[in-house]
Amino acid sequence: MPEKADPFSEHRCRPGCGACCIAPSISSAIPGLPQGKASGIICPHLTPDMLCAIFDSPDRPAVCANFSFDPLICGNDREEALNIMYQIEKGSRESQV
Ligand code: SF4
Ligand code: SF4
Repeated sequence: MPEKADPFSEHRCRPGCGACCIAPSISSAIPGLPQGKASGIICPHLTPDMLCAIFDSPDRPAVCANFSFDPLICGNDREEALNIMYQIEKGSRESQV
């Protein structure tokens, strides 16, 4: 999930992306959304500059805190990240049927 940039890391969160706060469903409670959120819903804590407004809050969902930049998921740009994450969501929905 959007991280504070580490300028020395080769693999780091892309400024202005926020894809991981939009495409994935989150089943745990998010402040203001006790049931979590569905895939494709923009998290209400995503700021206009695509940062997490509750990054340092203990109420930030653990799933957010546990996810960090992964080139296989984040892809080369925001569109690719969204596409990959929607595919993952689709796959996990189909496996539950
Ligand atoms: S999808 Fe990846 S690059 Fe984009 S905000 Fe999330 S962690 Fe950062
Ligand atoms: S709580 Fe923060 S990190 Fe988690 S989805 Fe919302 S904006 Fe993203």
